[in-house]
Amino acid sequence: MARSQQFSKESVALGIDIGGTKIRLGLIEADGTVVQEMTLPTRAAERRVMDQLFLGIDTMHRVWEERAEQRPLAGIGIGSAGQIDVKRGSVHYASDLIPGYTGTPLRTLVEQRFGLPVYVDNDVNVMALAESILGAGRNLDHLVCLALGTGVGGAVIADGKLVHGVNGGAGEIGHMTVNMLGPRCICGGRGCLEVYASGTSIARRYRERLVGRKLPLPPEPVETRQVVDLWLAGQPEAVRVMEDALSALGAAIAGLVHIFNPQAVIVGGGLAEVGEPLFAALERKLTRLAMPSMLAGMQLLPAKLGGASNMIGAALQVWA
Ligand SMILES: [Zn+2]
Repeated sequence: MARSQQFSKESVALGIDIGGTKIRLGLIEADGTVVQEMTLPTRAAERRVMDQLFLGIDTMHRVWEERAEQRPLAGIGIGSAGQIDVKRGSVHYASDLIPGYTGTPLRTLVEQRFGLPVYVDNDVNVMALAESILGAGRNLDHLVCLALGTGVGGAVIADGKLVHGVNGGAGEIGHMTVNMLGPRCICGGRGCLEVYASGTSIARRYRERLVGRKLPLPPEPVETRQVVDLWLAGQPEAVRVMEDALSALGAAIAGLVHIFNPQAVIVGGGLAEVGEPLFAALERKLTRLAMPSMLAGMQLLPAKLGGASNMIGAALQVWA
């Protein structure tokens, strides 16, 4: 299936990105244009995630009506943190990042309240959808996507379709074991990619390395971006931590390339914004770890759509 579609510019959908800290909502045209958007905290005082979600949808609905446009809303698309049961449109599992979220029948609740068609998928899956329709993977049918942020998210498109698995858990690339003797991960596993390559882990491992080597800690908490800057400047401790992150990413991507034989691996999220030095280093790791026949013609690409990609991809489900 080619993922190029006939877009009607007339059509508008509400795209919603539900993350651990914020909910981002946007009125999105089928070509990805963001007409209007707003952001809410995922939880505020006693208000739970569904209260915040309904508040956001109510507000955007009102905004749309006040614009007095002749176009009806085509539907609501949601991309959410957690493992999403796409058939049921419910949250199969979410970590304590959003307490009480596991089991929430998202689609049913939103459909009942707003009477519009509702589509729900995982947030990184909808990012991959957006990249495959409008971004770096345009017109490609075989993609692996990684989102390198606070955590490490992943998604796979094979033969033009998102791979969901039985419970929506497929593509949990952050929890691929890249070191079977490595430290414990929050998932219960050991030596997961996320332990080395998430923003949180990079900052933590840098701090631990300074402590371990009895080097002075900076007065402020260490941010991932500082470690990256120190790496680029050649500071030895930062180089070591980033080398581990890049080796872990290289091993994970090589494994994925061997399993899925993709046309492209798309890397997005905050860490990917480092750009050329990161991609060049990753290319080198990958060349050492993956079969040349698999790498021939395969592209390692930065994501194109940036921070709005989840929200846009969420909306694109309405037309996909
Ligand atoms: Zn893990």
